[in-house]
Amino acid sequence: MPGKSFFIDTTKCTGCRGCQIACKQWNQNPETKTLQRGTYQNPADLSATTFKLVRFSEEGGRQGDPIWYFFPDQCRHCLYPPCKMAADKKAPGAVILDVKTRAVIFNPAVKVSPEDFKEINAICPFDIPRYNEELGSMAKCTMCFDRVSAGMLPACVQACPTGAMSFGDRADIRKMAEKRLDEVKYEHRRASLIYPEAIRVIFLVKDDPEKYHRFAATQNETGVTRRMALKQLLHPVTTGLKIS
Ligand code: SF4
Ligand code: SF4
Repeated sequence: MPGKSFFIDTTKCTGCRGCQIACKQWNQNPETKTLQRGTYQNPADLSATTFKLVRFSEEGGRQGDPIWYFFPDQCRHCLYPPCKMAADKKAPGAVILDVKTRAVIFNPAVKVSPEDFKEINAICPFDIPRYNEELGSMAKCTMCFDRVSAGMLPACVQACPTGAMSFGDRADIRKMAEKRLDEVKYEHRRASLIYPEAIRVIFLVKDDPEKYHRFAATQNETGVTRRMALKQLLHPVTTGLKIS
């Protein structure tokens, strides 16, 4: 299953939010009302009309200067998506895989009850699925499969001014990510790629993923169901996962 992948190099991210805005524009999602919450991150969370969100975390450095951790959050387009496995039982057809790109797509034409949605959300290791109450359907990043099928880059990648986001054939992207990790490790020994073997959106972080976002990589506090789903995702052969 080759398909496509993203590489998100957070060491090059400046938190400009160009990707977040480009995502809104391409998907024709309405603006989200924002509030002053004592952080530069806005809005507070992903939603049925915010598929991409640059998360901001701040930590005091040794000299008292802040250290920023920017995390352009979005669906990881898992190779064996737990959301699809849950949805196939609850609302068949609500989650489909694009044949060419292998993008994981939520089908807005298939209605999902609020109760079933809760179960589908609870199995996503990265807390991505959101519910559109008006339409009774689920929403998230589509990998811009419409743009990609027409030979274009996803809107967020196209908009990024720093080269933090890359997109392409999976084998090429994995090589690019490994090469960049080797470079970054010279300066940041804790640098790592987050689950590159299991997901199509590969993040490079220079520090513990939990410093960036609670759901950047699944931690103990993120719940048993999500952790079990991640375990299956990381070991699809031994757990016998099948995707149609
Ligand atoms: S990140 Fe969550 S919503 Fe996205 S494909 Fe994986 S399980 Fe599904
Ligand atoms: S557009 Fe690029 S630099 Fe700006 S927030 Fe997004 S990933 Fe970071």
